[in-house]
Amino acid sequence: MQAIDWSSIGFGYIPTDYNVRCVYRDGAWGEIETTSDTNISLSIAATCLHYGQEAFEGLKAYRCPDGKVRVFRPDENAARLQATCRGLVMPEVPTELFIEMVERVVRLNESFIPPYESGATLYVRPLLIGTTAQVGVHPASEYLLVIFVTPVGPYFKGGFSTNPYVITRDYDRSAPLGTGCYKVGGNYAASLKANKWAHEQGYSCEFYLDAKEKKYIDECGAANFFGIKQGTYVTPLSTSILPSVTNKSLMQLAADMGLKVERRQIPIEELATFEEAGACGTAAVISPIERIDDPETGHSYVFAPDGKPGPVSTRLYKKLVDIQYGIEPDVHGWTRVVIDA
Ligand SMILES: *Cc1c(COP(=O)(O)O)cnc(C)c1O
Repeated sequence: MQAIDWSSIGFGYIPTDYNVRCVYRDGAWGEIETTSDTNISLSIAATCLHYGQEAFEGLKAYRCPDGKVRVFRPDENAARLQATCRGLVMPEVPTELFIEMVERVVRLNESFIPPYESGATLYVRPLLIGTTAQVGVHPASEYLLVIFVTPVGPYFKGGFSTNPYVITRDYDRSAPLGTGCYKVGGNYAASLKANKWAHEQGYSCEFYLDAKEKKYIDECGAANFFGIKQGTYVTPLSTSILPSVTNKSLMQLAADMGLKVERRQIPIEELATFEEAGACGTAAVISPIERIDDPETGHSYVFAPDGKPGPVSTRLYKKLVDIQYGIEPDVHGWTRVVIDA
């Protein structure tokens, strides 16, 4: 293997030595297979290609200062994948199978887990696709679950920093009773145009309102939203957002710190009352929001006039990252040691 310069890798794709796979056929999951082949052979009529029977997940493995390698809440990713499977009429992946595959693929690719000091991590990507060849629109009978890994760089190269967002009313990423609550590629396909539009105007990302009324906060690009005000952590309750494991963890940590936690509809005007706001997800943990511009009203909701992350977001970020790296005591039992020191 060629030496990787950990400081220069971004959020791209670097092939690694192994990936693990499991096939669902005749109503049952088979044996876990290990392969060095980074391609898959697929019928041109596979349901995943034509009708979007595709689900994915995302989590990370961390090389910790104590020399151990930990993954963060893989049981939560397994549970969410099961929910996605029910949503897309795919066979559920049992939690034990999911976790065994995650552990195996991380161990097999140990040489690709970046050192702690680099701030880089090993991203774990489970992918589930319908593989049956058919042109009729109905669920496949055969499925392939692949889990691969790729090293990814630190999200904040210049340190924890803030970003500007722009509200879009011209695009929806998901419908109230659609697939927004499932982790499927189709939601991302639906967001690419809005994302391109936001980038062209110099924003970090597009910001979504609820699709039906355009009155409430929905999602922050492909991340969950939270706001902080008067000792309260507020995050939207909506049927069209993806239940983020990071957000779930932050809600718990906020409560542990003595903050009130509210999960409810957030009217757009309420943005003016937040002292801090952030986007959260596995990639960045928290990406603090500098401001959210509303092109329709010309209003700019500013959370970080000096461009610096707020104190509560910073504390939450540090707490969660330190748990992931085994630095803080893991009182909730969230981390799983995959490789011992
Ligand atoms: C994956 C994802 C998130 C973040 O979820 P985490 O479990 O925290 O990584 C948020 N929104 C969307 C649309 C996602 O796909």
